Amino acid sequence: MVLTPARCAKALQLTLAVIKPDAVAHPLILEALHQKILENKFIIVKSKEIVWQRQDSERFYAEHKGRFFYQRLVEFMSSGPMQAYILAREEAVSQWRMMMGPTKVFRARYVAPGTIRARFGLTDTRNTTHGSDSEDSARREIAFFFPEFSVAEWMERVEPAFRAGP
Ligand code: GDP
Ligand code: MG
Repeated sequence: MVLTPARCAKALQLTLAVIKPDAVAHPLILEALHQKILENKFIIVKSKEIVWQRQDSERFYAEHKGRFFYQRLVEFMSSGPMQAYILAREEAVSQWRMMMGPTKVFRARYVAPGTIRARFGLTDTRNTTHGSDSEDSARREIAFFFPEFSVAEWMERVEPAFRAGP
C-alpha cells in the first residue's frame, strides 16, 4: 500500500534541536548527527550555525542558575559554534529527545547505549546535543534561536500541505 500524506493521521510537530560545540568541533561527528536527523525522517525546516556570547548562554539556561554545573554549562555553550535546527515530524519533541538519550552521558552509556549522547557525549556537560522537552519549550526555544521564524505562519502555510492527500 502506498502511504500518502493523507494516511498519516498525526500532525507534524516542531522542535528545536542543537548540536553543541563539542560535536560541531568534530566535522565527522557533526556529519554523523546530521545524517541521523535525516534518517529518522525529520524535515529540516531551518538550520543555522550560531555562536553565543556568555550572556546568551546565561539567558537560555536561566532555569539552571545556582546549580553546581551552571558555570561550566554557560562557559561551554559559549565556547564555540553550534548548529541549531528547527525540525518537524510527528511527535518531533519526544522523538528527538529519545534519540538524544539521557542528559548524563555516563548514565546514557549504561541505560541507553545506542543513543546520541551515549555514542558521542564526552562528559555530563559536553553532552553533544540539546532538544526541547515539551511543545511549550519548543515554541520558546525556537523563538530564542530563530526570532525571525513564525511557528504559526509555518503551521498554517506549510503543514496542511503534508495532510492534504488525494
Ligand atoms: P537536557 O534537557 O537533557 O539537556 O538537561 P537539563 O535541561 O537538565 O540540563 C541542561 C544541560 O545542563 C545538560 O544538557 C547538560 O549539558 C548540563 N547538565 C545537566 N545536568 C548536569 C549534571 O548533573 N552535571 C553536569 N556537569 N552538567 C549537567
Ligand atoms: Mg532541558
